[in-house]
Amino acid sequence: MTMALITCQECSTRLSDTANSCPECGASMQTAKGRAGLSFNGKLLLAVAIFVIVVWAFR
Ligand SMILES: [Zn+2]
Repeated sequence: MTMALITCQECSTRLSDTANSCPECGASMQTAKGRAGLSFNGKLLLAVAIFVIVVWAFR
């Protein structure tokens, strides 16, 4: 697990480093690590969503 908390530079809200934007003020997190994490998580989520839809459609 590499979950970590970072602090929003705009409003000082603590949020996960996997978040691409602050849930409080909407400021985008511009760290390279954050982008990489988001990209990976986005692809994984998309793959899971497609898998679920396919399984559901063919049951
Ligand atoms: Zn913020």
